[in-house]
Amino acid sequence: MFKWDSDEIADDVPVTAAIDAILNLKKYSALSDLHPIDVKVSLDKDEPRVLLLDRFTVLKKRFLAAGITNPLSAKVGGGAGRSVGFEASPGVEQVKESYLARWDRYTSAHEFGHMLGLLDEYCPAVSPELIAKMYNEGQLGVDEQTLGKSAQNKKGSFLAPQTGYANLLEKTGQSAQAWTKPGAKESGERKTSLMSGGFEKSSVSTTSRSGKHSR
Ligand SMILES: [Zn+2]
Repeated sequence: MFKWDSDEIADDVPVTAAIDAILNLKKYSALSDLHPIDVKVSLDKDEPRVLLLDRFTVLKKRFLAAGITNPLSAKVGGGAGRSVGFEASPGVEQVKESYLARWDRYTSAHEFGHMLGLLDEYCPAVSPELIAKMYNEGQLGVDEQTLGKSAQNKKGSFLAPQTGYANLLEKTGQSAQAWTKPGAKESGERKTSLMSGGFEKSSVSTTSRSGKHSR
C-alpha cells in the first residue's frame, strides 16, 4: 500500500477497496458509521516507528474525504512486512447499553413485526429462492449456499414462508439484506435489523407479506 520508508501511497487499489467496503456497510445498517474501526499499521523490519502515525494520518484523511465518519483508532498491526489492515473495534459498550436500556420496546416492535407477517431474519435462510437472492446480491459466496445443521432442522417450518417472502422482496425490488446465512451455527448471526434481534427498521421491515409496501 505504501512506498518503502514513506507515507506516500504506492498502490491505491487496496485503499479504494477498503473505503468501498466500509461505505458499503451503510446498506446493512444505518448505524454502521457509529462503529469504531481499528487501523492496524505494520512496518517493514527497518522502517522507522514514526511512520506508524504518519501512515495512519494519511489514511484518515483519505477516509474522511470519502465520507467515512467512523471513529478511527491507530493500532500497531501484527502483520509481517509493510501492510495495513482494517477491523471493527471490539466491544462497543455505548451502543450496547443504549440497546439494552430500550430492550422491551424493541421486543414489542419485533413481535408487532410478526403480526404484520414479517419473519425472523435470524433464522437461517433455508429456502432455495431466498438463498439464490442472497447469492445474487453478493451476500453469500459460492461455497456458502449449503444448509448447515441448524438450517436443516428449520427447513420444515420455514421453507415455504421464506420462499413467499423472497418472491415478495423480489417483486418489490428489495434486498434480503439482514438474513442469516444458510450455514450459520445454532447461535445464528445477529444483525441490527429489528427482525434479526436488533433495533433498526430495515426497508424489508416495511414490506409485509400481504404485499403492501407500507412506507
Ligand atoms: Zn421473532
